[in-house]
Amino acid sequence: MLQSFTKKYTDLSTEDEFAFIFYCDVCDKAWKSVPIPFSQRERKSFFKKLFGVYTSLWNAEHKDAFERANREGMLHFNRCTVCNRWVCDDDFSEEENCCAYCCQRNGSIK
Ligand SMILES: [Zn+2]
Ligand SMILES: [Zn+2]
Repeated sequence: MLQSFTKKYTDLSTEDEFAFIFYCDVCDKAWKSVPIPFSQRERKSFFKKLFGVYTSLWNAEHKDAFERANREGMLHFNRCTVCNRWVCDDDFSEEENCCAYCCQRNGSIK
């Protein structure tokens, strides 16, 4: 299992492309990554005959695509400086750099 920057994610990857959904740590709002095609999708029937080659190629690209999706995802979420959770814009206070939960706890609701 790969480690995502949010607590929860869904892997939508198929034989042909790699895509992931990441969820806000507070409200589960979803963000879907832009699908990245598998480089050998056109030749998968050929590659599948070569035992293990297809799988290892796919696994390597899957891992890269996942890391890329994580980096992109971080631009769509905000990191709370108090609890380190990744939250959507709705759950984040720009002024205080913290999530709704932490700001509330500090007595300053955005
Ligand atoms: Zn949220
Ligand atoms: Zn927080």
